[in-house]
Amino acid sequence: MDDVVVVGGGIIGAATAYFLSKEGRKVRVIERDPTYKKASFPLSLGGFRRQFFQKENINLGKFALEFISDISNTLKTKNNLNPTASMVPNGYLLLFGPEHAKEQYEALKNHKACQAGTKNIPASKLKEIFSWINPEGLETATYTDNKTEGWIDPHMFHNALKNKATELGAKFEKGDIKKISDIKAKTIVSAAGCWTKELLEDIPVAPQKHTVFRVKCPKHYPEMPLTGDLPSGVYWRPEGKEYLAGSPNSKFDCLDLEPEWDDFENLVWPALANRVPEFEQLKLTGGWAGYYDCNTLDNNAIVGKHPKYENVFLATGFTGRGLMQSPGIGRGLTELITTGKYQTIDLSCFGIDRIFTKQKRTEPYVL
Ligand SMILES: Cc1cc2nc3c(=O)[nH]c(=O)nc-3n(C[C@H](O)[C@H](O)[C@H](O)COP(=O)(O)OP(=O)(O)OC[C@H]3O[C@@H](n4cnc5c(N)ncnc54)[C@H](O)[C@@H]3O)c2cc1C
Repeated sequence: MDDVVVVGGGIIGAATAYFLSKEGRKVRVIERDPTYKKASFPLSLGGFRRQFFQKENINLGKFALEFISDISNTLKTKNNLNPTASMVPNGYLLLFGPEHAKEQYEALKNHKACQAGTKNIPASKLKEIFSWINPEGLETATYTDNKTEGWIDPHMFHNALKNKATELGAKFEKGDIKKISDIKAKTIVSAAGCWTKELLEDIPVAPQKHTVFRVKCPKHYPEMPLTGDLPSGVYWRPEGKEYLAGSPNSKFDCLDLEPEWDDFENLVWPALANRVPEFEQLKLTGGWAGYYDCNTLDNNAIVGKHPKYENVFLATGFTGRGLMQSPGIGRGLTELITTGKYQTIDLSCFGIDRIFTKQKRTEPYVL
């Protein structure tokens, strides 16, 4: 019998394998597609932030920075002497209209309690800091300017975690698990992302297709933060000499990952040009689509021990924030598995019982 089997070698599987191996557990990670063609993490925007409503999400965002900042030490291996996640700490800027402002003022109390270091600014003053913005229709905004938020390269981060886990003894193997009961192990961790329901049918997580467009604009602002325009739902950030922009439109039940190209003309470009008038001149240069691991109950992570099994733990449902939460989730699951309870960030609020009792714990700031 195996000690630990992790199903899914994506970012959550790799982070969990790393933390468990560090504690001396013998981990096998089973991944059905080691090219990760359709996995969520390589198709993500790489963003990490602490600007959430709920304290647990704020604290997971804070730990992401702490962990990523130190990977040149912690994830160094014989084969990877200088691991990096290629961090760009440009910050996040979230823009709120009157319909979201009240909730955001409440969220700011949590930011303060967690010492998140976020700043709040009325829309009327936005142009003093972000000269490129059209503040029309906005009431307030929050941002960081102290290199605590930004984005990373998801491939490099995954590679660094996987390499280190492997050096610590974890084995990554190709395999397609059809049923949880097919695994014989002391501990099983389901890290199957948006495909979790195939193994654990009572977990309400579904693949939700999201499209990202690559665009070029004659005017480039390399220092631009990852900006989320809550009134339109569009978000964007610089990428090299271009920009990436996410569509607010999403679709369930899509077998294909063809980008929803019509969204660009109909939704994304108008919203971009409205908020940044210079984006009127932009040109579409590419795009892709990927699946969010959408928790259809409350848009929040589902993490912990499955109450119907003796030895099955799971982590899924991150709904667009699994990359940034992976260090905190990998560490938290390891604490739960090895000591029986969370030792650092208390992740009990993400527990599976709430799913069965339909106790929603909705996180409002989903981009
Ligand atoms: C367009 C887009 C933008 C995003 N932007 C961000 C962002 O800016 N910041 C952020 O934090 N997050 C972002 N995300 C979300 C993030 O990518 C996911 O939340 C995260 O990747 C989830 O990690 P995971 O390891 O659970 O799933 P995945 O990365 O999908 O990995 C799961 C793995 O499990 C394997 N698997 C599944 N079932 C089985 C089985 N039965 N047997 C064997 N293997 C199996 C799959 O092949 C897959 O490789 C974005 C996602 C998308 C699509």
